Amino acid sequence: MEHYDVIVIGVGSMGGAAANVLAERGVKVLGLETFWPGHDQGSAHGGTRIVRQAYFESPDYVPLLRRAYEGWHKLERESGREIVNLCGGIYIGDRDNLVFKGSMEAAQLHGIEHEVLDATEVKRRFPTMNPTDDAFALYEPNAGYVRPEETTMANAEVAARKGATIRFGEPVTHWSATPGGGVEVVTSQGQYGADKLIITPGAWAPQLLPELRFPLSIERMVFYWFTPEFSDAVPYELYEDKRHPIYIEETHGNQQIYGFPMTDGREGGFKLGFFRLGTPTTPQTIDRNVYDAEVEQMRRRALELFPYLTGGLVQAKTCLYSVTPDEHFILGPYPDKPQVVLGCGFSGHGFKFVPVIGEVLADLATTGTTEHPISLFDPKRLVLSPG
Ligand SMILES: Cc1cc2nc3c(=O)[nH]c(=O)nc-3n(C[C@H](O)[C@H](O)[C@H](O)COP(=O)(O)OP(=O)(O)OC[C@H]3O[C@@H](n4cnc5c(N)ncnc54)[C@H](O)[C@@H]3O)c2cc1C
Repeated sequence: MEHYDVIVIGVGSMGGAAANVLAERGVKVLGLETFWPGHDQGSAHGGTRIVRQAYFESPDYVPLLRRAYEGWHKLERESGREIVNLCGGIYIGDRDNLVFKGSMEAAQLHGIEHEVLDATEVKRRFPTMNPTDDAFALYEPNAGYVRPEETTMANAEVAARKGATIRFGEPVTHWSATPGGGVEVVTSQGQYGADKLIITPGAWAPQLLPELRFPLSIERMVFYWFTPEFSDAVPYELYEDKRHPIYIEETHGNQQIYGFPMTDGREGGFKLGFFRLGTPTTPQTIDRNVYDAEVEQMRRRALELFPYLTGGLVQAKTCLYSVTPDEHFILGPYPDKPQVVLGCGFSGHGFKFVPVIGEVLADLATTGTTEHPISLFDPKRLVLSPG
């Protein structure tokens, strides 16, 4: 049986980053992945993911985001792929809404560059948008988007170049912690041993971690690409990433939406989605069709902010969220199995952290501890008592 220092189960967003960091540190690492690089079956496809630092979810995430940004630029340099575009970001809400208020708190607390705009100023600067008159917005110039497929491919390539073994098309069917320390992993093609194991299976966490019975909700989410109606007053160029920021909006209790500038040419569509409104599913049973009623619901909501989003639907795709009850990640040692490290439950907002999560997982697998602040993510907070 081949033996490694560390095995990573699931070479997607987080596992790919962990394999990269481990290989860089000279660790003998094996990554095992069911699908192919850049696949669209999990949580890491759809062309774009928001990155930002004025984090309304909690200012506690900001130090991790600062470190993640360094990692994004490094990954881009090392891979030669185009991954990061800091086109700016705008978070719109009423005065008491977390999207606006929480972004403001995080920005002020951590000295993140920002501007506060009222509705008139938003419309003047970004004529694609028509927020309600009493809305406020925080504009963050260093927000933008990253490319998920490019990221997972880049991490796998760079990791392999640094000496990692990555085996695609090889699902793990079973893993166990051996009583004296170490782990054994069985796949569709063989059996491997290692001193340490990192489990980063995304939406497959319930299958790979059955004993923990995490209260994890696996949800079907949809992103939509619509064509705006261009005019002389609001032409195509105003939707492009040179002029248009990423955005999040939630005003007066409406459903939170988020989205992107046009990133793939005039025909590529303007991508957006609901942050919530997922339906419980599993990776095996998810309905990948998107229905007219869903498209209409999205369009109606989108028109509240983007009055010219009246053209056709270019495409719609499903994606999987793995949501914890408090929407914080699951990141840390497996309870009572110190040779196993968990990274899952990224609750629909994990991608922007990919490089720093890779470091945390590598730290935990090699030294058992990390200097990064991860106390919010302790897996033990979610373990249900037996019975
Ligand atoms: C619609 C949507 C929009 C999003 N928008 C944003 C955003 O704008 N910004 C942001 O920060 N985040 C966003 N996210 C969240 C982010 O994409 C996820 O948090 C992140 O991708 C999760 O990474 P992961 O490594 O846990 O999962 P994945 O990237 O899915 O990786 C898990 C991998 O494990 C593999 N695997 C599973 N089981 C096995 C097995 N038995 N053997 C071998 N391999 C296995 C899978 O095939 C998969 O490749 C969004 C997610 C979705 C779905």
